[in-house]
Amino acid sequence: MNEDCIFCRIVEGRIPSKRVYEDDQMIVINDINPAAPVHLLVVPKEHVESLMTAQQQHQALMGKMLLLAPGLVSKLGTTDGFRVVINNGHGGGQEVFHMHFHILAGPRPWKRTI
Ligand code: AMP
Ligand code: ZN
Repeated sequence: MNEDCIFCRIVEGRIPSKRVYEDDQMIVINDINPAAPVHLLVVPKEHVESLMTAQQQHQALMGKMLLLAPGLVSKLGTTDGFRVVINNGHGGGQEVFHMHFHILAGPRPWKRTI
């Protein structure tokens, strides 16, 4: 855990959030500033900065994070598709340096590009 990391604090429950899903390895929360009608963040409990620092040992975790998306989206009522976005590093538009997958879905137009 990283004391200065907002997502570590959310994982620890020190910053409140509504968890759409949780297991031993990850949480899924609603993005605080949604860019689409459905905007979820899949956040691993382990502090990994980004894909740029992820290691071989995270392969299964990231596969699990991705495979969670279809079920979550359909549970929330969208059946015609979704987008997954992963921003990496300053140049990739990353703002929170704790790896996370954005899941975007729902009727268009969407508010902005992530
Ligand atoms: P990124 O630019 O990929 O690092 O995205 C960070 C995302 O985290 C942005 O879409 C923010 O709206 C979202 N965010 C920041 N703080 C919170 C929070 N406390 N709870 C939920 N989402 C957050
Ligand atoms: Zn963190």
